[in-house]
Amino acid sequence: MLGSTTVSGLLFVTVSREAASSILSRADLSFNPIRLALLVGWVYLCVYFVQRVYFSPLVPKNYKTMANVVTLFTGPFLLLTLFVIDAARKTRGTGDSFLLVLKRQIQQVVATLHAERSEAPEDSTLRLLDTSGRSIDEICGHGDGKHEDARILDLTETTIADALERRASDILIDPKDESTYTVRLRVDGMLRVVKELNAEMCRSVISSVKAVAGMDVSERRRPQDGGFTAKKGTTVASFRVASAGALHGEKLSIRVLNKDAGTFSLAKIGLSQKQYDVLARQIAKPAGMILICGPTGSGKTTTLYAMLNEIDRLTRNVITVEDPIEAVLPQASQIEINPKADITFAKALRSVLRQDPDVICVGEIRDEETAEIALRAAQTGHLVLATIHSNSNATALIRLLDLGISPLLLSAGLNLVLSQRLLRCLCDRCKGPAHLSDSQIDGFRKKNIDPSRIFEAVGCKHCENTGYTGRTAICDLMVVDDTLKAEIAKSKSLLDKLRTEGIQSQSGLRKEGLKKVVAGITSLDEVKRVVG
Ligand SMILES: [Zn+2]
Repeated sequence: MLGSTTVSGLLFVTVSREAASSILSRADLSFNPIRLALLVGWVYLCVYFVQRVYFSPLVPKNYKTMANVVTLFTGPFLLLTLFVIDAARKTRGTGDSFLLVLKRQIQQVVATLHAERSEAPEDSTLRLLDTSGRSIDEICGHGDGKHEDARILDLTETTIADALERRASDILIDPKDESTYTVRLRVDGMLRVVKELNAEMCRSVISSVKAVAGMDVSERRRPQDGGFTAKKGTTVASFRVASAGALHGEKLSIRVLNKDAGTFSLAKIGLSQKQYDVLARQIAKPAGMILICGPTGSGKTTTLYAMLNEIDRLTRNVITVEDPIEAVLPQASQIEINPKADITFAKALRSVLRQDPDVICVGEIRDEETAEIALRAAQTGHLVLATIHSNSNATALIRLLDLGISPLLLSAGLNLVLSQRLLRCLCDRCKGPAHLSDSQIDGFRKKNIDPSRIFEAVGCKHCENTGYTGRTAICDLMVVDDTLKAEIAKSKSLLDKLRTEGIQSQSGLRKEGLKKVVAGITSLDEVKRVVG
């Protein structure tokens, strides 16, 4: 055994020596395949990284050319250097050892590369489709039409794509005067002008949107509504369009329906842990009504979807009645109301009750009939989630009683009332210490709060100089326990009490808002703007 190993060892040494000497002798020649391979490999790497930099969303558009030139000459070296600098920075930030951070970074890169490879190559252009799936090109004859038409369609598509990129909830196109139109976007609840267009061009954009939304293009005065979808790669967004004739021409408002609503989670909407626990307990109950209140744009629908996502829809039969359906919920039956076809909330609800539901979701309670059916369902063994347009918990109860609901039915059906508002979150990249008055500083010190932890909005390019990005909800919960149920049933005295309390009923929301100010999430100005 020993002998054979020695022999094979000797053989190996001889062979490798021969190979080495042949390589060495070849290295003297002018043509060297190894050097050539290294050179080709290096050029390939450089080109590969140039392409990566070009398509990377991390490199801002304005810097792409510069980044490309630098990458072309440095190849992977630039990226490696940045990588090591980043790791060193994180080491200082977290206090972990450099090697540990580096290892984590490499794991992250490998995971991203893996994820990128498993994704299908994405079509990066946005395409507008009507309800039957026809593209805007097919409807308007893009391409074979005039050059001008193609330009208008491109402008329409970039306007929509821009709104999606900026997370806008609405796009408003209005005539400013005879010759100009403004395009405004509502982002985080605030409107801002994004561009001004000449009237003629804008009228064509409006016409192309109306065409894809299935509206009558020749009708420019009478209010109309319609809808369309936009597809980019595998992501799809839906839009609702309303048009009307205004003083200097036709105006158009496009509502972006929340395509991500199906993925909202209750833990992330901004509830405190205590509130989350209360809500989770109520959702687990087999029967009773959970009522969400707030004005338009206060995030009621988001909370509703977040609650529905909390429910196991395989073991509980979930049926929703909505206006409109904002996102698809797997394993739930969703019904959209359509007053034109005489499908109202009340009628849809009656049909839902015949389909053996466990959980019923009512998009909005607007009339007595809907309120009554929903409360009766809550009383007869169904969990009912509903929203109502009101300013506070107290005013929601007053509103239901004013609609003509009997106090007995209300007290029996209602389990929880939740009123909410949305606060804009301070931009983490630019927020600065707040300039507080002496009395404010004293006030915070008395409550044992360090005033240096209070921030205010500043503004940078990442938040488009608003100082805010994204929003969080503040909620005021009112559990309808037995004492409260008894009080509601007695009605008269409670009604008077609520009417007087209703005025200061936003104090719960204000308290929640201030907690978020102290946590550095939002500013005092923002809380004042939203809840006064
Ligand atoms: Zn900023």
